[in-house]
Amino acid sequence: MNVKEIITELMGKNFVSSLSPFWLIFSGAENVIMPELSPFEILLTLLALSMFFIALAYLINANIQYIFHLSFLFLFIHLFLNNLLYPLNFCIGVMFAGLVAYISNKLRFLTTSGSLATFLLASILFGLGGLKWSVPILSFFILSSIISKLRKRNNQKIDEYFEKSGVRDHWQVLANGGVGGLLIILYTYTQNELFYLLNIASLAAVCADTWATELGTYNNTNTYNIINLKKVTQGRSGGISVKGTFGAILGTIVIAVSGLTWIELPLLNYFVLILSAGVFGSMVDSVIGATIQVQHKCVSCGKVTEKRMHCEEETSYFRGVKLINNDIVNFFASISAIIFIIISIIIFSI
Ligand SMILES: [Zn+2]
Repeated sequence: MNVKEIITELMGKNFVSSLSPFWLIFSGAENVIMPELSPFEILLTLLALSMFFIALAYLINANIQYIFHLSFLFLFIHLFLNNLLYPLNFCIGVMFAGLVAYISNKLRFLTTSGSLATFLLASILFGLGGLKWSVPILSFFILSSIISKLRKRNNQKIDEYFEKSGVRDHWQVLANGGVGGLLIILYTYTQNELFYLLNIASLAAVCADTWATELGTYNNTNTYNIINLKKVTQGRSGGISVKGTFGAILGTIVIAVSGLTWIELPLLNYFVLILSAGVFGSMVDSVIGATIQVQHKCVSCGKVTEKRMHCEEETSYFRGVKLINNDIVNFFASISAIIFIIISIIIFSI
């Protein structure tokens, strides 16, 4: 099912029926705890929440009604009892997330599942975090997608080593942005700026890794195994190069700059922290890639690759831990950047 079909369905029968639990609750709770919302705001909130949960239902392939009843409880408490967020801001965020997800799918930055996941994640980030949380992740996403496309145009054949090509699916979106989704929720509760700093660090690591891969494979360049520094085939997991390292640093700087407006730390401390956390994260990524990340071998041409399919045949297991695929490695990288920041703060008491 593609995005267009889903939207068609959203506007059809399912859409109306999925609103019903909300209508029920809203009419019942109105007299008790409803904050003063205009009918327009109520309508917009319902629309935004419906879009959000229908996308969630599609992504995890669940019964829409079931999802709605559960999710309602969660949102009801957060949106209206705690009064943590303004419905109108949330709605604008959700609408904008929908737009970003839709355009990304049209431009082939994302698969259908990738755009659903992006919609969900971006709804939370944009809706709860406003510009402060939207600008860094959008900088990462838009610039990285463009670089991926350019690299693909320049060096398509390197894709045969990568588990996934430039079009991101939902696992990739979650591996890159899932940590940010958790951090914004913690931030909303605590209003502690540390969570924002951690978010920038995790994004810096993810961006460093992405740009290292894209610039390191942009054209032919000498590539070495990060563990033993022996020359390896370009594109292999755990390979590093001069251009790739330059890409990692550049990617980290871009993310650091994107969050600059909202940072309260002294400028130099901030840049040193984010730069080291980001580069550290991408090094962790390469080390895992060179050691325990699962590698497959093509049964037909013998190439070692991250791909499950090669030469139109299923590849065989070559080495590594089967569970640790590229998405898990990216997730580790972003977590390691966070740990790096926390340890630095403890040691240097910044
Ligand atoms: Zn092959």
